[in-house]
Amino acid sequence: MIDLKVSNTPELWQQYDRKHIWHPYTSMLDPLPAYTVSSAQGVCLQLGDGRELIDGMSSWWTAIHGYNHPRLNAAIKEQLNSMAHVMFGGLTHQPAIGLAERLIELTADPLQHVFFCDSGSVSVEVAIKMAIQYWFAKGKTNKQRLLTVRGGYHGDTFGAMSVCDPVNGMHQMFTGVLAQHLFAPKPQRDDGTWDDRWIKEFKDLLANNRDEIAAVIVEPIVQGAGGMNIYNAEYLRQFRHLCDENDVLLIFDEIATGFGRTGKLFAYEHADVVPDILCLGKAMTAGYMTLAATLTSTKVAQGISADGSGVLMHGPTFMGNPLACRVGVESIDLLLESPWQQQVLAIEKQLLQELEPCKDLPVVADVRSIGAIGVVETTIPVKMPWMQERFVENGVWIRPFGKLVYIMPPYIIEPEQLSKLTGAIYKVLEEWSERVA
Ligand SMILES: *Cc1c(COP(=O)(O)O)cnc(C)c1O
Repeated sequence: MIDLKVSNTPELWQQYDRKHIWHPYTSMLDPLPAYTVSSAQGVCLQLGDGRELIDGMSSWWTAIHGYNHPRLNAAIKEQLNSMAHVMFGGLTHQPAIGLAERLIELTADPLQHVFFCDSGSVSVEVAIKMAIQYWFAKGKTNKQRLLTVRGGYHGDTFGAMSVCDPVNGMHQMFTGVLAQHLFAPKPQRDDGTWDDRWIKEFKDLLANNRDEIAAVIVEPIVQGAGGMNIYNAEYLRQFRHLCDENDVLLIFDEIATGFGRTGKLFAYEHADVVPDILCLGKAMTAGYMTLAATLTSTKVAQGISADGSGVLMHGPTFMGNPLACRVGVESIDLLLESPWQQQVLAIEKQLLQELEPCKDLPVVADVRSIGAIGVVETTIPVKMPWMQERFVENGVWIRPFGKLVYIMPPYIIEPEQLSKLTGAIYKVLEEWSERVA
């Protein structure tokens, strides 16, 4: 235990935290409560007050194998004993090479080159840079804009934020600072049907602005933090076809969906199309270390350097951090050795079955799921922190936002544990229905 100078009671720690430390998307004036976690094991979080919660969030899509995994722990300890970090400029090491090798093998054939960076947002910045530099090297210096769809989320740094949904992403506050990109309508929620009219506006925007557009960027199949929207794979085939037709690169942001979450190793496999640039992060290190990667094809990688002097202008201090890469290697090996497909499929089936009854609750607008992702959309914004507290009192960790109560548990979750999550969702939404009635 760290000896805290604040004073020795959990109440005072929490007060200190509340007064001095920012949590994600919170106010310093009136922050939502933050629960102290003392340890985590398997799919459970242990709170400072001794309560144990079943984790429905995988710590924001990351902890796919659960917490405190002996093999991941051993890998990182072994790496620590040889070196925690060395700069990547002019130096290289086995953990980075091993991870690159795995990423290249697992992803589609054309993706042959890897850029390692610190976080998902940075991998999106790098993807945008790659696309712009690619066209710059070809002499197409006007191709600097991006086309995306509404309802997306790509991170919180400025470049990434500029392609987030303009409303959810609070562009209003930053107009004048943010690059002005193009937005096509949000993809329709998948109901198994397809209508060519859904792609019309995207098609026109692309064709009319092709001389200015460097790339299209989207989250394949599932739009995550922008609204947990699950859409038809036909969109991706159309995106690919239209990008080719208009000389525009295609970037897939698989930071949330990668490594099995949607039932395929990568969500683009649902459509059988390949992007020019692919962003990976989150589950890549199983929730142990912050690390992301941007992969691209030989065409793009060599194109960037084609004008003779073109180097990719990025180089984070902690690029290719050995501890992070080593745990990434172990996590991928662990995933491939596990029956992850059956696990995710079983979670999907159970989510469909057990969340279905929520549809009858008056506060529920929609229930949907794909792979190990279950979403209940409400008719009005959820009531935090009441709902947060009720979930904790029911022994689960579920953190809703906006009109979304959603879970994406670790793949190793047992059916009874998953039932506890879905049961708590039903129960809390039922209570809330009564309160707002
Ligand atoms: C989380 C996320 C990001 C940003 O990743 P960070 O590691 O938080 O910077 C980008 N894109 C998608 C789709 C994400 O889910």
